[in-house]
Amino acid sequence: METLFTPWRYPYLTAPKPDQPAGCIFCVAASSEDVRATLTLYRNADAVVMLNKYPYTNGHLMIAPVAHEARLFESNDRSLRALIRLTAEAQRILSDVYRPDGFNVGMNFGTVAGAGVADHYHMHIVPRWSGDSNFMTVTARTRLVPEELEVTYEKLVPHFAGLRGDFLDA
Ligand SMILES: [Zn+2]
Repeated sequence: METLFTPWRYPYLTAPKPDQPAGCIFCVAASSEDVRATLTLYRNADAVVMLNKYPYTNGHLMIAPVAHEARLFESNDRSLRALIRLTAEAQRILSDVYRPDGFNVGMNFGTVAGAGVADHYHMHIVPRWSGDSNFMTVTARTRLVPEELEVTYEKLVPHFAGLRGDFLDA
């Protein structure tokens, strides 16, 4: 699948990659000292929230457990709770910031099911607007993404910064 408007890809593709992402993008996001470079909006001991570098729409986020696990049944309750709690927080924040008409929220397990990263499971949350699924998406397998990732990141990161780090224990 191609993305027509991808101004963020050029610096990404041409930038030197010193210490990443040799491994799994979610493990890198969970441990990197440079949260901006990994487009990480929020993380705690249990889960991370990051922008999808190749979004289907503006505000396409991914939520993953910190633990490198491939299947839900491998996760402990704390990880599972963090995942759904942060999915809920992400939906609230995206609703406030982007006022979408709907959402797609879901997970793919295994390459055969469409998972880009098959060995570290993650939740996708994709805001949807009336009319965003135009003929190009259907027929040309091409996505139109009008907002640059950096802009999306700057819009969303203050909202995630407002989340209490210990909200899972509340
Ligand atoms: Zn991982």
